[in-house]
Amino acid sequence: MNENARRGYLRALGVDVWVRREGQGNRDSGLVTRDSSDSERVTRHASRVTNDSALIPESPNHESRITNPDPSRLDWPALEAAVKACTLCDLHRTRTQTVFGVGDRQAQWMVIGEAPGADEDAQGEPFVGRAGQLLNSMLKACGLKREQVFIANILKCRPPQNRDPAPNEAECCTPYLHRQIELVNPKLILCVGRIAAQNLLNTDTPIGKLRGRVQRLGTAQRPVVVTYHPAYLLRSPGEKRKAWDDLLLAMATGSVTRP
Ligand code: SF4
Repeated sequence: MNENARRGYLRALGVDVWVRREGQGNRDSGLVTRDSSDSERVTRHASRVTNDSALIPESPNHESRITNPDPSRLDWPALEAAVKACTLCDLHRTRTQTVFGVGDRQAQWMVIGEAPGADEDAQGEPFVGRAGQLLNSMLKACGLKREQVFIANILKCRPPQNRDPAPNEAECCTPYLHRQIELVNPKLILCVGRIAAQNLLNTDTPIGKLRGRVQRLGTAQRPVVVTYHPAYLLRSPGEKRKAWDDLLLAMATGSVTRP
């Protein structure tokens, strides 16, 4: 992506950018954020790709809850059908429809959020509405179109009043997500929001401590970069610079190769 396009995307994200004047040296050539400490943090994050996260089981123990079919053995059509027919938790009673996930099933990046909201429940697609538009801008800032990634949620059905997923709901539903991860086999998972990150990584660590370094998922040690949920960024635009730091880390970790 050329610099002009990148600047445009950053502006669309609401991130102020300064461009170093010629003659100021090339120590940090390219874009810098308004706050010089931010540019230092960007550098730190990009170099802080670590392998030191604890080994986390990719699938928690769901055997007692899920009997038939076993998601870990399903191909895409069967998995989609299983989700559509799923009644494993009470959310099936209140959903308009399931929200399976959308995008390139051979994507190099996967985006994982929390659960469908009202718009998603109505349209059957994750990350639509204003939060979805901001996610699209975040992806553009990384040089990716929405359709080039695979987007899914921890839960496939909307919790009433958009409440947080209950533990049993996440336990019932995450085997579908883990199978999606296996099938997509992404180079990088961008996990947006505290709920998604804590459920995916099976931890109660605060998001502030999950951000800023590469987490590892499962025996495959898949790289996971955690950032804020676009809906939170809409409410707290001052955090967008931190989200940009996260995206830089994601790009440094899961650089997308072009065919
Ligand atoms: S949320 Fe997941 S586990 Fe619960 S009914 Fe929907 S698809 Fe099934």
